[in-house]
Amino acid sequence: MEVNVSAYRDIKKYLDEQKVQLIAVSKTKPVSDILDLYNLGQRDFGENYVQELVDKATQLPKDIRWHFIGHLQTNKVKQITPFVQLIHGVDSLKLLKEINKQGGKAGRVIDCLLQVHIAQEETKFGLDEEELKLTLGEVKNSTMNNVRVCGLMGMASFSDDMEKVRNEFRLLKKLFENHTGLTILSMGMSSDYKIAVEEGSTMVRIGSLLFGERLIN
Ligand SMILES: *Cc1c(COP(=O)(O)O)cnc(C)c1O
Repeated sequence: MEVNVSAYRDIKKYLDEQKVQLIAVSKTKPVSDILDLYNLGQRDFGENYVQELVDKATQLPKDIRWHFIGHLQTNKVKQITPFVQLIHGVDSLKLLKEINKQGGKAGRVIDCLLQVHIAQEETKFGLDEEELKLTLGEVKNSTMNNVRVCGLMGMASFSDDMEKVRNEFRLLKKLFENHTGLTILSMGMSSDYKIAVEEGSTMVRIGSLLFGERLIN
C-alpha cells in the first residue's frame, strides 16, 4: 500500500487554510509509509499502540512529533515518556498522575488531552461531562508539575447520520469553551474531519485517507 500523496496535499491545504493541525495516524502502517509523508513535510504522526510507537520512534527521524491517540494503560506510560509529544486519550485522574510521575522522572512536562465520551455508542472510552468537570477541578487543585492538560479529545459515533456526528462535535466544542485554559480540541477522523473542522476542531487525526484502509483496527 502506498500513501495517497494527492489526498495528503488536498487535506493539508484545506487544514492550513482553516488553521487546523493534522495528525497523520500511522498505526499498523510501515515506517516506509511514514517516511513518504515525512518527506512531504509532515511531522506529526499518531499511534495507538505503545510498542509500535516506541519501535517507530527509535527508527525514524528525531524531529517527528509522536501523538499517542490510543487507550493508554497506566503501566505502559513509562515506555512512551521519552518519545511522546501529546497524549490524546487521558480518561482518568489515576492515569494523569502516572503521566506526571513519569514526566518527573524524565525531567519533562508532558502535554495531555482529556478524552470525553461524546458518542452514543457504549464502546468508546472517555469521561462524561460530570467526570470531566471533576477531573479538571482536581487538576487545578493538585500540584502536578510534570503534566499539562492542554485540551480535549473526542470521537463521534461511527455513523452515516452526519447530523448526529455534528451534534456530538458541537457538544464537545461547548465543553471545550466552558473550561478556561484549554487550547487544543482534537476531533475529526477520515470520515468526519470536515464536520469536525466546521464545528471548531483545532486538530484532526486522519489515517485511512492518507495511508489507505487498514486490515486490522
Ligand atoms: C485510528 C484512529 C484514527 C484515524 O482513523 P481513520 O478513520 O483511519 O482516519 C483517529 N483517532 C483515533 C483515536 C484512532 O484510533
